[in-house]
Amino acid sequence: MTSTEGAPQGVITAPLLRGQKALVTGANSGIGKATAVALGRAGADVVVNYVAGREDAEKVVEEITAFGVRAVAHEADVSDEQQVVAMVDRMVKEFGTIDVLVANAGLQRDAPITEMTLAQWQKVLDVNLTGQFLCAREAAKEFLRRGVVPEVSRAAGKIICMSSVHQIIPWSGHVNYAASKGGVQMMMATLAQELAPKRIRVNAVAPGAIKTPINRSAWETPEAEQDLMRLIPYKRVGDPEDIAHAVVGLASDLMDYVVGTTLYVDGGMTLFPGFATGG
Ligand code: NAD
Repeated sequence: MTSTEGAPQGVITAPLLRGQKALVTGANSGIGKATAVALGRAGADVVVNYVAGREDAEKVVEEITAFGVRAVAHEADVSDEQQVVAMVDRMVKEFGTIDVLVANAGLQRDAPITEMTLAQWQKVLDVNLTGQFLCAREAAKEFLRRGVVPEVSRAAGKIICMSSVHQIIPWSGHVNYAASKGGVQMMMATLAQELAPKRIRVNAVAPGAIKTPINRSAWETPEAEQDLMRLIPYKRVGDPEDIAHAVVGLASDLMDYVVGTTLYVDGGMTLFPGFATGG
């Protein structure tokens, strides 16, 4: 008996991404780590990119290979052109190709505008926006070279940009971060328009408040977490897995007609919760 026999219609019985090759940047921590693991669980072979923290990256590799798929850790700074080119080259050599890019790596360098240094501004733009551009460019080259392989996926490739609710919600004291994510939104939409005729799907996931090291101060004490609830209609802080599951869905053929969309995964943070009473 095959695994699908007798299954009720509409139930997903096969790994959604079986045979696909995925690259996740910044995959040794937080959302990237949960996403790399979820992609592996869904049947993909995974390149676990990291810039620092090899041990954590190797632990993620171990977790993924336990699902019976392949995984390798690869050190590269996503804002460095040569390092990104070398990373995708290695992936194509060792895994044969790339089917899914999750451009996730990101950071914050917060300061009020009058105190923000050019270095803080530049670093955030370099990693959060230019890093995604470089990875998307190299992935797109390989998607175009290979084209659609129908046994693997209906699309020639999928790019998922990790954005943020701050692609539309202004954020005082974080002008570099908000500008980088606003840039990601328009980069994603433009690439989606440019690449859709080649059967490449580009989309974004915009997380709200997710428990990871990037925003520890916002949730690590009960008082801080309670304060955060003012902004979250669904009244819980998100887990990295909430984002990982959205990425797996977007990468899969279940969402083959989703092109150029930002999927907000934010417990309703973008619903103007301040207007829930009065306004
Ligand atoms: P995190 O700090 O746990 O993870 C960020 C990862 O990016 C780390 O692995 C870090 O080493 C890596 N990274 C940083 N600079 C890099 C570089 N130059 N090259 C390669 N990797 C680099 O934080 P996270 O919350 O998991 O963040 C992941 C993404 O999610 C980021 O793009 C962030 O902006 C976005 N995001 C997070 C939240 C949240 O609430 N946690 C909300 C919205 C968006």
